[in-house]
Amino acid sequence: MTTITTVKRLSEHVGQTVTLRGWVYNKRSKGKLHFLQVRDGSGIVQCVVFMKNVDEESFEAIGHLGQESSLSVTGEVKADERAPGGFEIGVSSVEIHQVVDGYPITPKEHGVDYLLSQRHLWLRSKRQSAIMRLRSHVMMSLRTFFQDQDFVCMDSPMFTPNACEGTSELFEVPYFERTAYLTQSGQLYAEASAMALGKVYTFGPTFRAEKSKTRRHLTEFWMLEPELAYAELDDVCQLAEDMICYVVRDVLENCQAELADLERDLSKLECILGPFPRLTYEEASKILLEHPDSEFVAGDDFGAPDETILSEMHERPVMITHYPKEVKAFYMKRDPEDESKVLCVDVLGPEGVGEIIGGSQREDDLGILEGRIRDHDLPMSAFEWFLDLRRYGSVPHAGFGLGLERFVGWIAGVEHIRECIPFPRTIVRLEP
Ligand code: ATP
Ligand code: MG
Repeated sequence: MTTITTVKRLSEHVGQTVTLRGWVYNKRSKGKLHFLQVRDGSGIVQCVVFMKNVDEESFEAIGHLGQESSLSVTGEVKADERAPGGFEIGVSSVEIHQVVDGYPITPKEHGVDYLLSQRHLWLRSKRQSAIMRLRSHVMMSLRTFFQDQDFVCMDSPMFTPNACEGTSELFEVPYFERTAYLTQSGQLYAEASAMALGKVYTFGPTFRAEKSKTRRHLTEFWMLEPELAYAELDDVCQLAEDMICYVVRDVLENCQAELADLERDLSKLECILGPFPRLTYEEASKILLEHPDSEFVAGDDFGAPDETILSEMHERPVMITHYPKEVKAFYMKRDPEDESKVLCVDVLGPEGVGEIIGGSQREDDLGILEGRIRDHDLPMSAFEWFLDLRRYGSVPHAGFGLGLERFVGWIAGVEHIRECIPFPRTIVRLEP
């Protein structure tokens, strides 16, 4: 019996004979030699099969293995600087589990629509696997960041009885004798949780019937939403900055293989250090109004092209605060120094990625919030529980929402966020 290990752990076994269990990623044969690229989910390694080192039957059989044939390979781990990943296996035996011929995805270029329709297989590619491992690491890193600071994970429900920002972007689902909506943000519940537990975060899927077909919008995405009692806008700006810096550092230290597979320009991540530049909406507007490529209209929300312009001006994320109240949600607190603005922040990632975080200080005054609900024609009765948070021990509080796939997309240097979730859902795609 040899030790069973994974590509990721080969460095622990140099000079030993080990078994890897995986799939053929690629194969090249040359006379008495087969070069097998074997992937096992944790990475890819070159396995060199010399005719003289294996039995005749195996050598012959390897010659017939197509891409994605499954096999176990046993051999000696050799450190080799020239090998991708730094290791190579000198094969002494193989056990073939299934011979595959005609795998639908070949190393040649396929169109992205085809690849998306083959997503269940596309995930096996080097690039997609690297993005998925990176996503997994970022999720853990985010949780660690918050748990280490005594935040409590308080998941908000997916089924909700009403909308928090209007119903146009909501998915309706039949719910016994009534209608429920899939959550578009866990925030209202996070506010209740923060009043109970002080510092909380919710982390889960979010659903938006986004009609927009952009590279930044999915209909199902993951959102991490911290919410803090006794906190103001500045506190959450600082928290967002610390969180981003922490995760980027962690990824640089622990996801080197993935970043290399993605050919990520590390200098773009190494410069992500605080403090991040901060602009008010007014300052950002001035820049856009003077910019030749911008179609920005004063007083409007920033569109994706505006965000791209602002984010390309900086090598670090940019924080934009104090938007006009008209373009933001009803629950945001007005700026006491300028009642036309709200105490909010959008964080735009660099390299043109646009908004990755939206946050704010919340309105904590009962009467003002009741007025807002009325002004927005929202059903007061549905918000009674939310108003209770302003009746019983109301305090200043604030939080934000981070879109996981946009965050991962930026860190990975991936253009379209549909590659940053295992099975993307968009306006035009529900399969596979
Ligand atoms: P946008 O203007 O880009 O549609 P938003 O203002 O609707 O974003 P928020 O409601 O503030 O976004 O949501 C918080 C975060 O959730 C965003 O900063 C973004 O990272 C992420 N997010 C929002 N909508 C989507 C979506 N459709 N797909 C993926 N991520 C999203
Ligand atoms: Mg939106």
